[in-house]
Amino acid sequence: MTPAAPAVQISHLDQRFTTARGEVHALSGIDLTIEPGAFVSLIGPSGCGKSTLLRCIADLVTPTAGEVLVGGVSAHRARLAHGYGIAFQQAGLLEWRTVQRNVELPLELHGVGKAERAERARHLLDLVGLADFARMKPAELSGGMQQRVAIARSLAEEPPLLLMDEPFGALDEMTRERMQAELLAIRERTGTTVVFVTHSIPEAVFLSTQVVVMSPRPGRIVRVVEVDLPARDEDAREHPAFFAGITAVREALRGRESPAAALHGDDR
Ligand code: ADP
Ligand code: MG
Repeated sequence: MTPAAPAVQISHLDQRFTTARGEVHALSGIDLTIEPGAFVSLIGPSGCGKSTLLRCIADLVTPTAGEVLVGGVSAHRARLAHGYGIAFQQAGLLEWRTVQRNVELPLELHGVGKAERAERARHLLDLVGLADFARMKPAELSGGMQQRVAIARSLAEEPPLLLMDEPFGALDEMTRERMQAELLAIRERTGTTVVFVTHSIPEAVFLSTQVVVMSPRPGRIVRVVEVDLPARDEDAREHPAFFAGITAVREALRGRESPAAALHGDDR
C-alpha cells in the first residue's frame, strides 16, 4: 500500500443486479474518500446497499460502473495482497476446524509460526469471552458466539483495513460494548482504517470519525457527519458532541438537512 494514498477511494460507483424479477439498482453515484486511520460507519435503511458497498471495497462484488481503489491499488489487487480483514453478518467459519484453528487461519495462511499464532488466537478468544470454547467446533456454538469467533479471526492479523458488516448486531449489550472498546483499542494501537456497517446510530457515533448516511435504494450518500469526540471512553457516551452527532445522523436519515449544510449546498 502506498502510504500517501487514501485507504479507500470510491469514484462514481454504480451497482445494478440483474435478477429473475428484473433489475435492482442498489447503489448510485457513490463518491467517497476514506483517509488512513479513519473509522467510517455506513448507516441507512435496510436494503440501501450498505453490504453491497462494503462488498465492492472487498472485491466480492464487481461494480457495474465506477472505480474502487484500496490503498491506491484496485480492490482486486488489494484482495490478492490480503490488504484487509473482514467480519460479515454471517460468521463464515470453517465447520471442520476448531474455534481456535478458525481464528488462527489468517495467520496460518501467512506463515506465522505455530506457537505464535496459538498464543495470539488464545488472546483474542479470551477477549471475546470464548477462551473455554477454543477446542469446540463452530456448530457447537450459538450464532452470537460464532460471530464473536469471526470477529476474533478478523482481528488476528491487525490488518491495515478492517471491513465489518454489522459485526456486533447479534451480541448482548455488555459484550457489544466490550467489543467496541477493543476495536477502538486495536485501531489506536495499529492505525487500522475501519469501514463499519451498523444500523445503530449511537454505535456509529461512538465509534466513528465519520458517519456516512445513505438514502433508501438506490443507495446514495446523503451526508457525511463528522464526529469529533475528545475521547472514546465511557464518558464519551455522555458528551455533548456525542448527542450532537446522534441528532445530525438522525436528521440526515430523515432527509432533513441542518440549515448550515443547506446553505453550503452540501447535499451529498
Ligand atoms: P443493506 O446491506 O443496506 O441492507 P444490501 O447491500 O444487502 O443492503 O442490498 C441492497 C439491494 O441490492 C437489495 O435490494 C438487495 O436485495 C440487492 N442485492 C444485493 N446483493 C444482490 C445480489 N447478489 N443479487 C441481486 N440483488 C442483490
Ligand atoms: Mg446488509
